[in-house]
Amino acid sequence: MAQNRKRTKIVATLGPACDTKEVIETMIDAGVNVFRINFSHAEYPDVERRVNIIREINKRRNFNVAVLADLQGPKLRVGMMQDGVELNIGDTFTYTTEKCEGTKDKAYMTYTNFPKDVQVGEHILVDDGKLLFEVTATNRIDSVTTKVLRGGPLKSKKGVNLPNTKISLPALTEKDQKDVVFAIGLDVDWIALSFVRTPEDIIQLQDVIKELSDHKIPIIAKIEKPEAVHNIDKITPVCDALMVARGDLGVEVPMEKVPLIQKRLVLAAKKAHIPVIIATQMMETMIENQVPTRAEVNDVANSIMDGADAVMLSGETSVGKFPLQVIQQMRRIIENVENSPLISIPEKYIQCVNERFISKTICHQASLMANSINAEVITTLTDSGYTAFQISSWRPKSNILVFSSNRRILAMLNLLWGVKGVYYDRFVSTDQTIEDINNLAAERGYLQEGDFAINITSMPVKERGMANTMKITQYQKS
Ligand code: PEP
Repeated sequence: MAQNRKRTKIVATLGPACDTKEVIETMIDAGVNVFRINFSHAEYPDVERRVNIIREINKRRNFNVAVLADLQGPKLRVGMMQDGVELNIGDTFTYTTEKCEGTKDKAYMTYTNFPKDVQVGEHILVDDGKLLFEVTATNRIDSVTTKVLRGGPLKSKKGVNLPNTKISLPALTEKDQKDVVFAIGLDVDWIALSFVRTPEDIIQLQDVIKELSDHKIPIIAKIEKPEAVHNIDKITPVCDALMVARGDLGVEVPMEKVPLIQKRLVLAAKKAHIPVIIATQMMETMIENQVPTRAEVNDVANSIMDGADAVMLSGETSVGKFPLQVIQQMRRIIENVENSPLISIPEKYIQCVNERFISKTICHQASLMANSINAEVITTLTDSGYTAFQISSWRPKSNILVFSSNRRILAMLNLLWGVKGVYYDRFVSTDQTIEDINNLAAERGYLQEGDFAINITSMPVKERGMANTMKITQYQKS
């Protein structure tokens, strides 16, 4: 087989800790495939500067490192608080939708419909669940009375989670709408939507993108609400990828439920043949320390064995002390586990004959055949990226080389497990194209004389239609 190259992808969050060209470039060399902009903490000039650095590196080194814009979504927060507010179990505490400075008796809540939407007995979690309140009364206008079930310090602007409340906020806030315009202006490769609840949330974002962009930008549904877990089989057909956003998910549901939900979500993504990112606290202690805990190493490894396409770093790379070392460490874990036979692949084969049936079948059979003949590479030509999604989801042992004349598509595909993009714009004849592609694979060290390649194309190649042809080539240098 070809030299072992990392196939599980790394998503790293941008921030002050990776602000220079030198740091960003060394992180890419160490294994970052996608950089995430977290719009919960983003100043536009900083974001623009960092994205320009990534684009300059892509151009100079012929890379396809992708940029993912992560929208904050309807995140709820308390307002400003007086210093030193400390709440104790049993205290009575009021949330008000009237703007005020918070005290030990009350806090401002940024969600105006809260007194109408909340029910007595529901829970309010604040500051990543460190504080817990139970609703005892609501006046249905502007004030909600609670009892403190878990106390502690309550500081300004802390996040609020309402796992049991049917929240009537729109999926896209005013801030998100502004951030989407900015992100599209930056030509980002993916957009992630936080606090997705229903498929309509995704469709709403799709409509906004359609209005603002001349091309499709794929959407990642961040699964962090119990409603989204419940609706997952309706959400996967409309989104392009999933993120298991374990930070908020572990507050919205009891955190001991997250491991099985993670497995369920990975399976849902596999069934839909879309990629899935596992996110949050993967190497959390490396924000401060040079080495991860054994539990963190196990978490990354187990996520890959569950079948993750990508593992994500948040504070570790955005504000951590060791943004490069954390990538190097993650890469070592990936390389040690990703060839394991324990990695799960989809079990259901294609049964229904639909409009994509031919391409789907070819991608599936190519992956099976690549494993059975020990092919070094599967190559595919794509304008939309569809075949790359399909082949990657079958987790073939060979490398997956995707050729396209669209650099945006190549960057977008960089999130997918095992996919390596190569720019190619000569579509002469099927024979010539396959020969060119195999030569390009050889130039990049993926093929040697006598190796097998499986080439997926569409015939006639000039029409650039859906994949309908598969060829086995024993590589001879031409
Ligand atoms: C999460 O909650 O796990 C997550 C990825 O979202 P954010 O980092 O935006 O809070």
